Amino acid sequence: MATNWGSLLQDEQQLEELARQAVDRALAEGVLLRTSQEPTSSDVVSYAPFTLFPSLVPSALLEQAYAVQMDFNMLVDAVSQNAAFLEQTLASTIKRDDFTARLFDIHKQVLKEGIAQTVFLGLNRSDYMFQCSADGSPVLKQIEINTISASFGGLASRTPAVHRHVLSVLSKTKEAAKILSNNPSKGLALGIAKAWELYGSANALVLLIAQEKERNIFDQRAIENELLARNIHVIRRRFEAISEKGSLDQDRRLFVDGQEVAVVYFRDGYMPCQYSLQNWEARLLLERSCAVKCPDIATQLAGTKKVQQELSRAGMLEMLLPGQPEAVARLRATFAGLYSLDMGEEGDQAIAEALAAPSRFVLKPQREGGGNNLYGEEMVQALKQLKDSEERASYILMEKIEPEPFENCLLRPGSPVQVVQCISELGIFGVYVRQGKTLVMNKHVGHLLRTKAIEHADGGVAAGVAVLDNPYPV
Ligand code: ADP
Ligand code: MG
Repeated sequence: MATNWGSLLQDEQQLEELARQAVDRALAEGVLLRTSQEPTSSDVVSYAPFTLFPSLVPSALLEQAYAVQMDFNMLVDAVSQNAAFLEQTLASTIKRDDFTARLFDIHKQVLKEGIAQTVFLGLNRSDYMFQCSADGSPVLKQIEINTISASFGGLASRTPAVHRHVLSVLSKTKEAAKILSNNPSKGLALGIAKAWELYGSANALVLLIAQEKERNIFDQRAIENELLARNIHVIRRRFEAISEKGSLDQDRRLFVDGQEVAVVYFRDGYMPCQYSLQNWEARLLLERSCAVKCPDIATQLAGTKKVQQELSRAGMLEMLLPGQPEAVARLRATFAGLYSLDMGEEGDQAIAEALAAPSRFVLKPQREGGGNNLYGEEMVQALKQLKDSEERASYILMEKIEPEPFENCLLRPGSPVQVVQCISELGIFGVYVRQGKTLVMNKHVGHLLRTKAIEHADGGVAAGVAVLDNPYPV
């Protein structure tokens, strides 16, 4: 990218002083995580890792990512309503991937019984990297879309003040003013509030499905706080508590501890290890209810990597978004190369190409949460092993995005201040609400920039690899 913070990154002493100031400001602003030693308590907390400087992002790509977000919202919503598409797309995957199969089972059960839910709420985050094209210019390419537990909207609201502070200390007032304001948690909360209102029961609550060990509690609280400011009460419960204390009445209204639930907001339930048998039962109970699930099971399935790959096939976007050629073009422009590994010629060819040029591909299983993808030699070994087995259909192959690295300082509790080569990933938060067939809200509500050292192929902030950042538009 055009320029960077140049000489500022050379002066070690100044960097250390700036880092001290930045960390204190981050703590004061509430850019917080619980510690890995005490993930269940807020007695001792620390700052969420972040970059010392905002990272340069071309304004045009930022605008493009914002402009396509409503299209992605519509697309996810369309996929979630298209049972035939989901069934066909996931058929080979669910034969070999137990987690997706279980989600799909619940989806089928709910369809069979009839969907009680009439209001639908999507809170998603579409993630991108800036592919360095042949002529050197960066191009926006989607990494994935998160349709469940898309996080860091709360902390991302608080980091602009930290980077403005750093630039102000350096008397870079003009630069400080260029840091965009950002408030995803407010927008996410407005979506929940709209769904709550349409559910139409003044005393009903929002139920946040929480993990036992939640280091990222302050990110979630930001949304809870926004809701409480609108007199909407949130209760936090684990799946276990739902199976013990949750029930449906004859109209399939959901009650927990005797209180009616209008909206269920999942910040758990996206990884296999988060489900015991009891938790699967709780998930089914929630899905059968008429409460607004965020996401409902079909929307969670719409966020699988297999769906992402099938959406890139010729004609798929046109089929799902008929009569919307402009939206289709905007969406398709962000797609990287995505390849099915289903048994057959097409999959064989994809595997052969990846084995011939491993550095150009990423192998992805149907997992969320970071650290699951395979690259390089690991990918080669896995592909060789999977090649002749139907198990390969539980993976997809993706073109590896290669952004141009730049220098920044990553600040983490307990780590020395160091300038490293980095790459960034931009996420845009989207919110939509549908009542029956009518889309009553469709917006983008802010962004998240995460930056990591280039030696880490995979992993987000929660996985301890990436750190929070802000785009510095250029
Ligand atoms: P998850 O659901 O685990 O977050 P992602 O698809 O977002 O899965 O991949 C995790 C991380 O791996 C991303 O944040 C990104 O850093 C890296 N990654 C994923 N896909 C690609 C790709 N096609 N090219 C380069 N890096 C990728
Ligand atoms: Mg991701």
